[in-house]
Amino acid sequence: MIGNSGARRRTLLAAAAGLAVAPFAAGPAFAAVPKVYLDPGHGGTDPGAVANGLQEKTLTLNMALQTRDILKASWNVDVRLSRTTDVTRSLAYRTDDANAWGATIFVSIHINAGGGSGFESYRYPGVGSTTVRLQNLVHTNVLSGMRSIASVTDRGQKSADLHVLRESNMPAVLTENLFIDTVANANLLKRADFITATARGHARGIAAFLGI
Ligand SMILES: [Zn+2]
Repeated sequence: MIGNSGARRRTLLAAAAGLAVAPFAAGPAFAAVPKVYLDPGHGGTDPGAVANGLQEKTLTLNMALQTRDILKASWNVDVRLSRTTDVTRSLAYRTDDANAWGATIFVSIHINAGGGSGFESYRYPGVGSTTVRLQNLVHTNVLSGMRSIASVTDRGQKSADLHVLRESNMPAVLTENLFIDTVANANLLKRADFITATARGHARGIAAFLGI
């Protein structure tokens, strides 16, 4: 995927929609009921990372479903998921669906792999302060949720040219919730209380950003 075309498209769309001065700053709540788009990574024929008896697609779906349930039980918010079952979704489907729905924010949930340990989050490179603020609130709340269960390394708030961050027309963040191929991390991902705490962290971060 080439970043320049995506960034240019994003800029043109934002300009066309007059979003340069969109009132996303903290303060009064959004005029309408906020629309939260949750994107459980992978699914169907794409399991994502697989290790230690775990599949990324199953963990991300569990986290997203619980995040939705906590959000809807606690706040007046609309929530849509890119998938609610184990089905295949292309990357284009995910961002097209969120854009067509008119999501207020986009939150993609993943599990890391490659032999590290801990939690990290991503935003698109060069985004404005609104997306940085979304990332900061989701990141800190997820981390504190995880740390209510166990010690978890903070790998930091990062940026990367990822499809779902580049092609979504709203503030977007992607979380990488521990490493499936690191035994100590996988043992946490096998715990129901850890999954729930991670979902609660996502919900609290989203609510804090929305000011609800
Ligand atoms: Zn993934």
